[in-house]
Amino acid sequence: MPLKSRTESKEFRIMKSLNGRMQLSSDDKQHYLNLKKGYEGEVKFDSLTASLDSKFYILNDLLLKSNNTTFQIDSLLITQALIILCEVKNYEGDYYYKDDGFYMCTNSKEITNPLHQLHRSETLLRQLLQKQGFNLPIDGNLIFIHPEFFLYQAPQNKQIIFSPQLPSFMKNLSAKPSNLNGNQRKIADFLLSAHITDSPYTQVPTYEYGGLRKGCKCGVCDSFDVICGERKIRCMNCGSEETIELAVLRSTEEFILLFPKQRITTNMIHDWCKVVKYKKRIRNILLTRYILVGHGKYSYFETTK
Ligand SMILES: [Zn+2]
Repeated sequence: MPLKSRTESKEFRIMKSLNGRMQLSSDDKQHYLNLKKGYEGEVKFDSLTASLDSKFYILNDLLLKSNNTTFQIDSLLITQALIILCEVKNYEGDYYYKDDGFYMCTNSKEITNPLHQLHRSETLLRQLLQKQGFNLPIDGNLIFIHPEFFLYQAPQNKQIIFSPQLPSFMKNLSAKPSNLNGNQRKIADFLLSAHITDSPYTQVPTYEYGGLRKGCKCGVCDSFDVICGERKIRCMNCGSEETIELAVLRSTEEFILLFPKQRITTNMIHDWCKVVKYKKRIRNILLTRYILVGHGKYSYFETTK
């Protein structure tokens, strides 16, 4: 296990939920697809570094603040003599490099230069660590993980790692000495404590309860095409089954994610899940995970968090 694992960000989870429950504008849809693709690329990179877990301290997906600037690090490996910072991009298709800029071949549209992004993170991390008295050198890498990404006129920059170069990149990494001592652990612990949980930069459209599609989604394929039997909910799209209890609790967690200030009541979740006929069933399920507050029709549920 890495010291810090990656989980889907709150923004990504909200966008994923909204994508199924409302018509997103084309910009929001694109934003959601970018988040999805980015996350998939990062997870793929995690699966490569996982084998180095016993050698180095690995911290995935860090959000830090230095000089009043928040910055994100996709993947960080603390080795004996070096901190290896990786910015992972899951771009796909043909791009070209010109005058310090990255452009898409299809429409010559310029994209944010990921090398600038990498240098910014490197500088901010260096400043943050130096303030704490940590002086391990930092080696930044820009990883293009998608096998179908191509960059014409690519600069000969050692920091850029293309998909076909990943095996040798990983080989070099695993050849590095792994005699970690207390100092590296201190750096890891400091970064873990400095990690910010909630990103201030989220781009989520406004939404209201009334405008969202209700219903339990299939836990496997996200389809709303489910039917509720005695004990189980069955997906008509992919055929998978789930107990009603699990489906309701998962849907309730989704409701809490979208409406954190809304009181959780039996009526509310009954309406939200749609497919479960009896309110009493919903109430009994909610009682298994949440704490009932108050009595009668004014009662509601609270999370234990
Ligand atoms: Zn399904």
